[in-house]
Amino acid sequence: MLKGIGTSGGIGIGHVLLIEDFNAEVIDRQPETPDIERKRFLEAKDTFVSSTKEIAANLKEKLGAGDKTALVLQNQIYLINDQELESGITEGINNGLSAENAVDATCRMYADIFRSMDSEVMNQRVADIEDLRNRIVNILGGGQCTDLSSLPPDTIIVASELHPSITATMDTEHVAGIIAEKGGETSHAAILARALEIPAVLSLKGICSRVKDNDPVIIDGEYGEVFLNPSGKTLKIYEKKRRIYAERNEELKRYIDKATLTGDGSKVCLAANIGGDKDCSKAMSLGADGVGLFRTEFFFLEGVSMPTEEQQFEVYKKAAVLSKDKFITIRTLDIGGDKDIPYMGLVKENNPFLGYRAIRYCLGRVDVFITQLRAILRASAYGKIRIMLPLITTVEEVQTARKIISDICKDLDRKEIPYDKNIQVGVMVETPSASLIADLLAKRADFFSIGTNDLTQYTLAVDRGNENVSYLYSVYNPSVLRSIRNIIACGKEAGIEVGMCGEAAASPGMIPLLLSFGLDEFSVSPSKILETRKNIASWTKEEADKVTGTVMAMESEKEVSGYLSDYIAAREELRRKKEGKADG
Ligand code: PEP
Ligand code: MG
Repeated sequence: MLKGIGTSGGIGIGHVLLIEDFNAEVIDRQPETPDIERKRFLEAKDTFVSSTKEIAANLKEKLGAGDKTALVLQNQIYLINDQELESGITEGINNGLSAENAVDATCRMYADIFRSMDSEVMNQRVADIEDLRNRIVNILGGGQCTDLSSLPPDTIIVASELHPSITATMDTEHVAGIIAEKGGETSHAAILARALEIPAVLSLKGICSRVKDNDPVIIDGEYGEVFLNPSGKTLKIYEKKRRIYAERNEELKRYIDKATLTGDGSKVCLAANIGGDKDCSKAMSLGADGVGLFRTEFFFLEGVSMPTEEQQFEVYKKAAVLSKDKFITIRTLDIGGDKDIPYMGLVKENNPFLGYRAIRYCLGRVDVFITQLRAILRASAYGKIRIMLPLITTVEEVQTARKIISDICKDLDRKEIPYDKNIQVGVMVETPSASLIADLLAKRADFFSIGTNDLTQYTLAVDRGNENVSYLYSVYNPSVLRSIRNIIACGKEAGIEVGMCGEAAASPGMIPLLLSFGLDEFSVSPSKILETRKNIASWTKEEADKVTGTVMAMESEKEVSGYLSDYIAAREELRRKKEGKADG
């Protein structure tokens, strides 16, 4: 079994089609005069734009008009219309290069700049610009692009990297899976694969040299697993998994746009964690009750310089408008730790997760903080925005942040700029310190949101990204569970709402415990909304309390997670039997 990153769920069983690394050759020819070469470039640009629009329109037809995935291709139109890119190409032509050589040189220069930025979002730009280069060089040379518009059934595409224009034009009816050496969770190939519901495993290094056309292969897009030339036994296991997966998906569709209720009918708030407007639209279309976490650092990561107040205002306003009358919780900048933004001037630290991060950075760089808060406050005139402060460890941090917010409000009042005067300011509880003083923080916060990703890391003193100690990283450790129980109890005592926006909110084993502790809001990634709604619906308060009583008396993580997974598997088995679903 080989392991990559599972970026689009589902089981794919089929045969390999190996796509050669497509790198359009620049034909070596004597350039014409700059005027003629410029004209050739502009004609190629027009052809590129119209063919990209055509691909995007076809994609929209496949995915439905409301789907925003075609925007992935729109990015390439923005890129080719970028003034700097175009002037780089024109300058090359004026200096005596042919149109194709000027496009090639300028695109390579941009790709090198993006590559050197060492962030996944920027690396994605590299894929976009390489795709754009290939297609324009091809148009200029009159060549053919890779054509995957007609494929045999059950094709598993294997490539070094899948560019958006290829993924968007392939014969998706017959594609059973995608495997690529490059790309991650947020690469455009992953976004398209998820939208087209094709299982995908990316970042699987060396795969191209290990397979040939027609090799049988199985992929599990949820766990990132790939089986080459699988045995009859493995094939049988995965055929069963594929059937269960398809049934589960069908079943989940019943939960779209439904209220989130426990088995005994209590309403639960189910919100979404978003990184931008695409996630926001998706969450709203699935009936999320609001946004429990808007990770603002993502769009700071996309640019090459700090976004201005105006640019930020537009982003927050758009998200507020997209969420209509539902609440949207905007987390102030959480950089540092594992999130570096090249232009923010962070210095390398020995213990970045214990260092200059999140609220600490913002209180040190008050100029950055004020710019963001002003933009959020101004956007609050357009929707139900809440402000959330990450990585709080002391009461003073909350007091200082609130003072800065109230000073900005006074300034907005003076200038008669509208904002929500009752805006709520909440605290992310994600450090042991915040958990231990949750009663004190609850007096200064309008709401809590528990960040279990960090709370687990800091409570257990285990770096969340370090594979050597990942065996210790578990929210089911009794220390983390006690911490969560305490935070919720303190919030309840003070009469404020307590949510959870860490990954644990969507974890099937955590759901009964959180219901029993009295969590008010579950905030999960959009891809987990339906599953979480279904899981919540399967628990009554009585059963959740019983399970929680047993779990909270246990002394080790192993006991807790073993008990919960056996308990949940047994319920699921029982349910399938009741519904008359075959098991073999
Ligand atoms: C968390 O720590 O649980 C959380 C939601 O924040 P992040 O994963 O962005 O640190
Ligand atoms: Mg966190």
